[in-house]
Amino acid sequence: MNDVDICVCCGVPVPEGRMICPNCESDQQTSKEETEAFFEKLSESLAQKNDK
Ligand SMILES: [Zn+2]
Repeated sequence: MNDVDICVCCGVPVPEGRMICPNCESDQQTSKEETEAFFEKLSESLAQKNDK
């Protein structure tokens, strides 16, 4: 039985369907800017693809 997933950040068991524990989740909110920058780049490259 393996109903428990593991936090990708710190490796503690988290409820199934979750990738990170609540602890790391709140940590990630502080790096929201980084995430936004990442998605900005992503949509930029996608936009270039759609250009043609
Ligand atoms: Zn964690």
